[in-house]
Amino acid sequence: MNTLKGVTVLGSTGSIGVSTLDVIARHPERFKVAALTANTQADRLFEQCQRMHPVHAVMLDESAGMKLREMVSVAGLETEVTSGAAALEDVVTNSATDIVMAAIVGAAGLLPTLAAVRAGKRVLLANKEPLVVAGNLFIREARRSGAELLPIDSEHNAIFQCMPAGYMPGKNHAAVRRILLTCSGGPFRTARPQDLVAVTPEQACAHPNWVMGRKISVDSATLMNKGLELIEACRLFDCTPDHVQILIHPQSVVHSMVEYKDGSVLAQLGNPDMRTPIAHALAWPERIESGVESLDLFEVAQLDFEPPDLGRFPCLALARDAALAGGTAPAILNAANEVAVDAFLDHRIRFTDISCVIEHTLSNVGLNDDNDLEAVLADDAAARTSASSFVAGSNYKAAREF
Ligand code: NAD
Ligand code: MG
Repeated sequence: MNTLKGVTVLGSTGSIGVSTLDVIARHPERFKVAALTANTQADRLFEQCQRMHPVHAVMLDESAGMKLREMVSVAGLETEVTSGAAALEDVVTNSATDIVMAAIVGAAGLLPTLAAVRAGKRVLLANKEPLVVAGNLFIREARRSGAELLPIDSEHNAIFQCMPAGYMPGKNHAAVRRILLTCSGGPFRTARPQDLVAVTPEQACAHPNWVMGRKISVDSATLMNKGLELIEACRLFDCTPDHVQILIHPQSVVHSMVEYKDGSVLAQLGNPDMRTPIAHALAWPERIESGVESLDLFEVAQLDFEPPDLGRFPCLALARDAALAGGTAPAILNAANEVAVDAFLDHRIRFTDISCVIEHTLSNVGLNDDNDLEAVLADDAAARTSASSFVAGSNYKAAREF
């Protein structure tokens, strides 16, 4: 019997995608690559096809798809190349795929990831934005199809690892009192408020502990990443923001903790390397080598914890408020943040303007119930329009003054 698991990697050319292929390549006796997908980088996807021999490769962009098809044909590879959004949904649902790594960045990953959940696959969730945008829908659909939703975000994977054996994400556990969500504090943890106004995209993307894509790097610098993760934790572990304490932990060694009713606190520790949660979820409930080195606690020596500063990092407070407001508020928050981060990376707004764009968008777009995918997508689109015109338009005001 062929017991090799077919893995499809959505966003294989990104930071998480590359780490996923690294872990898969260590275990040819367990995994084969069913499909690899990317947005526009045909050259990088071609190089991955040569190395990993996927059955399918998908480029979102049609002209990049044509380029990849040509390269694959000239090289004599057997990989079938397709392109466009529908092709992404095809590869996650087809029978060659047992496991889907969702590693597209932003809400763009929503539809293919939801398709994988509906098809009952094991879905490894790195791409947190779809859970923020339509988390209730994901959980409901997973329950219906039997899909296993396993978190890859290091904090949520840590929380999952600290849960009792047999626990599956998507439901509350009665024995848990609190979740302790750790946060590195990002590159500006100790920056003075007045210095944040002038920070550049390059400074914002230089994370002290993790190497990541540019969007999540900016989110880590504004602490919006922790805000999105707060919402993600509420969705995955079925709790309210009041049950989640956020702790700044600059060493990024304790990836998060679970506090039980009896006062016990369980933590998961490890080097800050995404191959640990990726290997954990790929093989779960077994354990496999990930290529990550042993944690040297003598070298770490000290573990510090401090409360977050919501004054300097207003994005975290905005996310918490959106989580409490419920409905489509998290979808609106996320869409406005995507527009604002894009504008910041493009030098159109300043770092401190990001929270202003989000705050304005949340006050401008009306909330709806989030049980219906159409309503969620409509509010996501309305928020993008509102945020874009705020960034570009005459009603745009200068950044928050400190
Ligand atoms: P990245 O920017 O490095 O890679 C993104 C990937 O998605 C690329 O392969 C790109 O081709 C593809 N892509 C981009 N836009 C697309 C679109 N519109 N349609 C289809 N494909 C598209 O991002 P990353 O750092 O690997 O992060 C991916 C996701 O994982 C994000 O949601 C992020 O929040 C989450 N995550 C990342 C890390 C990390 O360490 N990098 C940790 C935790 C969670
Ligand atoms: Mg994280």
